[in-house]
Amino acid sequence: MYTQELLPGLDPKEPLIICGPCSAETEDQVMTTARDLAGYGAKVFRAGIWKPRTKPGGFEGVGVKGLPWLKRVKEETGMYVSTEVATKAHVEAALEAGIDLLWIGARTSANPFAMQEIADTLAAIGKDVPVLVKNPVNPDLELWIGAIQRIRNAGVKRVGAIHRGFSAYGKHLYRNMPQWHIPIELGRRMPEIPIICDPSHIGGKRELIAPLSQQSFDMGFDGLIIESHCNPDEAWSDAAQQVTPDALNLIINSLVPLNGAKPDSTESLTLLRQEIDRLDNELLEVLGKRMRVCREIGQYKKEHGMRVVQGARYGDMMKNRIDLAHEMGMGEEFMRRVMAAIHEESVRQQLEIFKNK
Ligand code: PEP
Ligand code: MN
Repeated sequence: MYTQELLPGLDPKEPLIICGPCSAETEDQVMTTARDLAGYGAKVFRAGIWKPRTKPGGFEGVGVKGLPWLKRVKEETGMYVSTEVATKAHVEAALEAGIDLLWIGARTSANPFAMQEIADTLAAIGKDVPVLVKNPVNPDLELWIGAIQRIRNAGVKRVGAIHRGFSAYGKHLYRNMPQWHIPIELGRRMPEIPIICDPSHIGGKRELIAPLSQQSFDMGFDGLIIESHCNPDEAWSDAAQQVTPDALNLIINSLVPLNGAKPDSTESLTLLRQEIDRLDNELLEVLGKRMRVCREIGQYKKEHGMRVVQGARYGDMMKNRIDLAHEMGMGEEFMRRVMAAIHEESVRQQLEIFKNK
């Protein structure tokens, strides 16, 4: 559990909740949403001013003209305000406008040049602002850690991480795959930083926000960032995943918190074990496929009057697999035993074919 206050008055023992629209669209939309959220006790408001869109032609954010709207949110509601930055110009404009917290988006944290530019800008300005780094779009923990390190090396003291899931090709239940073991491993590697969950971008749909939020609480995440819009169906970006402030309030109140204690960690252990079960199933499927191919080879050898065991082939295969295992950080003796056992079973299956008339 992290201990440092991310913003004055926000107790690190309480979940950090950041909420607000995906994008600032109009002053009216920002103010209406902000007033409703503040009415429910929200303390940190979010709104994207610059939007990284996948394709040209999408809504790319209102830009600097939206910054005074966030200033107004701060003055009228007392909430802290936050936005996404991706370039030097964004950082300069956001800090100039008095934005209280910055976050770095998933497309930006995947790019070390952009991360370094942001870090250098933060170092040059020297203002002590908290920065949250979203995971890169691709499931690369080292890239995520590297992005966080660049911000830290710039002298930023209050740094946190946001888990927003990882993209995958094709259609899936989630917009971005949770792959919980990755943020869990980040927490193990950097236990001092807060890690919050972004169920809006993981789920991509309203109905997944509550279950994903609860799951993240159960795993000991330190908070949530959730998209909320006064009129979600008409939102200019991410309409399917935004909820009204009323709905957000219901979701937050339905969550069972862990009273600050990280579940050290039966739930995260359960998830990691599920991941192990899944990987073991994959391993078994691959082994099953290998045995099928071996039986086909057995059939070929039988038809061509060849012996089951070809000595040279065995030696080459063993050497190649042991070298590969070594490169992957596994012991040579371990791989020799695994391959010997697999080979023994393959030979047994081929001998069965030889026995069949
Ligand atoms: C966002 O928070 O609106 C956003 C663009 O998120 P991500 O970088 O996770 O896609
Ligand atoms: Mn969004």
